[in-house]
Amino acid sequence: MAKRIGVLTSGGDAPGMNAAVRTVVRAALHYNMEPWAIYRGYHGLIRGEMEPVSSRAVSGIIQRGGTILKSARSDQFRTPEGRAKAMDMLTKNGIESLIVIGGDGSFAGALALEELGMKVICIPATIDNDIACTDYSIGFDTAVNNVMDAVNKIRDTASSHERVYVVEVMGRDSGYIALYSGLAGGADVILIPEVPYDVDQVCQQIRRANEQGKTYNIVMVAEGVKPVSGVDTGESPSMQIGRYIQEKTGYDTRITILGHIQRGGAPTVRDRLLASRLAYHAIELIYQGKSGKMLGEVDQVVKSFDLSYALAQEKELNLDYYHLSNILSSI
Ligand code: ATP
Repeated sequence: MAKRIGVLTSGGDAPGMNAAVRTVVRAALHYNMEPWAIYRGYHGLIRGEMEPVSSRAVSGIIQRGGTILKSARSDQFRTPEGRAKAMDMLTKNGIESLIVIGGDGSFAGALALEELGMKVICIPATIDNDIACTDYSIGFDTAVNNVMDAVNKIRDTASSHERVYVVEVMGRDSGYIALYSGLAGGADVILIPEVPYDVDQVCQQIRRANEQGKTYNIVMVAEGVKPVSGVDTGESPSMQIGRYIQEKTGYDTRITILGHIQRGGAPTVRDRLLASRLAYHAIELIYQGKSGKMLGEVDQVVKSFDLSYALAQEKELNLDYYHLSNILSSI
């Protein structure tokens, strides 16, 4: 009998997940394996929401954002009982290997399943790009392009009304989205969790830029930056920062929280290629009998890493981008 493998998407959805699913299914068939779709991540796994999937079932999905397998979060899976149920469902359905497409939380879940005896391979997919051992995770490039498009539009209105725009973007504790889209979108100030900021200095920077002839400003804020007062009131940081700038500078200041539009839309070429390559290698690893690995692309080469090692690493942010942005906006 052909080796039966399961595939699921878990955690936040990321554009390009579908491209990964498509490749997993077709590469599995290429290697004479039997691919099974598992729906709604670990939540669906515990409930046995799974079925065989054909090559045709993944037709016409490479260009779609989100995930046809659906995604969910599962508190039950965080418990030993929940994971035992999940393991039970896998063995009951004859699944010998599992491919998990998701972020680091999903990887931690996969590692816990491996400890119960399941063979697992993980593919990094999160718009936050906060996973170590890969230059980029699937979905990041599309998200950054989404933000850049939005900033282009905000720039039109900001310049017309000569306003300051504070734009808040996703990323959890990572500044990747803010930094890359801020630099690519020509933001005047970029605030990221990795670099402490002084809001009075931000005001000064805006004032100086306007004295030099600027008539509007874009301040890019990562959702994970610390609150202005240092006290977490539950309010998003951009609200506090925007209010502060308005009060201190007197400039008309508007706040835009981009929210979930960042994760939607057709995946970019980069995300489709990354997803296809990583997914193909995932099947190759399974074919070779490997387990407990995550795949990453480093300097354009696909590499595999022990999951436990990868999860213990800190994802580094290239601060050259930050310094470059500061130089470009200070002139
Ligand atoms: P993203 O960061 O893009 O949202 P993620 O994979 O990190 O993706 P999480 O919500 O952290 O998203 O994790 C997805 C699911 O993985 C959780 O709902 C939970 O079921 C499982 N999970 C997370 N952490 C663990 C853990 N330490 N042990 C077992 N399972 C976990």
